[in-house]
Amino acid sequence: MQTKKMTLTTKVIIGMVAGIVTGLMLNALGLNSAESFVGNYLVLGLFHVVGTMFITALKMLVVPLVLFSLISGVLGIGDIGQLGKVGAKSFALYLLTTAIAIAVGITIAVFSGVGEGANLTSAATFAAKEAPPLSQVLIDIIPSNIIDAMAEGKMLQIIFFSILLGISILMTGEKAKPLVSGIEIMNEVMMNMVNVIMAVAPYAVFALIAKAIASLGLDLLMNLAGYVIVLIIALMVHLFGTLMGILKLFTGLNIRMMLKKLRDVQIFAFSTSSSNATIPVTLRTVTERLGVDNSVASFTVPFGATINMDGTAIMQGVATVFIANAYGVDLGLSGYLTVIMMSVLASIGTAGVPGVGLIMLSMVFTQVGLPVEGIGLILGVDRLLDMIRTAVNVSGDATVSVIVAKSEKKFDPKIYNDPDAGILTEADIHIDEKVEEELAEVVEKTHDK
Ligand code: ASP
Repeated sequence: MQTKKMTLTTKVIIGMVAGIVTGLMLNALGLNSAESFVGNYLVLGLFHVVGTMFITALKMLVVPLVLFSLISGVLGIGDIGQLGKVGAKSFALYLLTTAIAIAVGITIAVFSGVGEGANLTSAATFAAKEAPPLSQVLIDIIPSNIIDAMAEGKMLQIIFFSILLGISILMTGEKAKPLVSGIEIMNEVMMNMVNVIMAVAPYAVFALIAKAIASLGLDLLMNLAGYVIVLIIALMVHLFGTLMGILKLFTGLNIRMMLKKLRDVQIFAFSTSSSNATIPVTLRTVTERLGVDNSVASFTVPFGATINMDGTAIMQGVATVFIANAYGVDLGLSGYLTVIMMSVLASIGTAGVPGVGLIMLSMVFTQVGLPVEGIGLILGVDRLLDMIRTAVNVSGDATVSVIVAKSEKKFDPKIYNDPDAGILTEADIHIDEKVEEELAEVVEKTHDK
């Protein structure tokens, strides 16, 4: 009997579950600190090293991948006017979903009465970091030095430069044809690099999750169970209700298929806590598994990772209500409207990296007059919640990408509806020996010239 080969997604899910179980065990046994041998060498040693190497590898891919895929996206869109429409639509949808997200968060939190009567005190202090003002965000879209922008991974600047470069190549016309093929090839090469890195994901995901769960303060989690549960419920309502609802409304597409194909992206986001580091996986899933044309996805995915944070917005809503209740402050309707406004604006100016939600939260608190030290109360459980909300953040990016692509007719329903489309197999990271020899010959010949 022929056994069916396990897909990467299945392996990654096994890695995740094994990671959770291992993490919980290590946590329960107290083997999570440098004091024990296991904690020191396994959790803080091996797991930490493997996990960090993996996240770094993903981050390494982001800049060249976005650069080549976006230039090739601009070149492949066929009508440059369409680019403006893609930009406007995705911007509007990102803002809309973020605003709905935070409203959902606030509503659920208010009705649950989370934090009420909780006589919480916290020893932890929280020093607020500033998120940039909107004027600076606008100015910062334009890089003064593109190498610097790339070195710093400034996504909006890289997007701006890539689009401008793509347009300039189009203006150059006929002469630029070899360059166009070169960029197209580089794009494919980068996608192969994504496949290579993804192949080790099951082990890396295991290490990342085992370490994160082992290091969690589970007793803290119990103390703040109300906040954690309300927040998780709000996140799920948004993912399954709002996001899938607007997908159905705007596209009529099958929701189950979407949820099934989002799994990879969500697990990567969950284990890395970073929308930015997940860009390679999101881009691959959206184009190769969900049928979005690269000309749309290459823009909407990195753009979304930067400005769209639905999960984070929900956390702002729930945390605001929680802290307000815990401190006995009544924010009133105008207070909550300010929170919605501020959270949407803050999400535009801050990139999708771990823990950024807390920075946004301090901005919101300052604006509505809640004590910023209040954030200290929820600091201890934020690591786990960051993982969950990042998974919701990237789900929003992928959903909006599909909606925009479908409305712009840059979408292939055959790929979307095929459950096996774009599944990563061993064949994807295979080097053809014959081709290898042929390429070596090409190099030799060119070298001898
Ligand atoms: N870690 C989140 C992200 O990368 C941001 C946050 O909520 O802290 O999307």
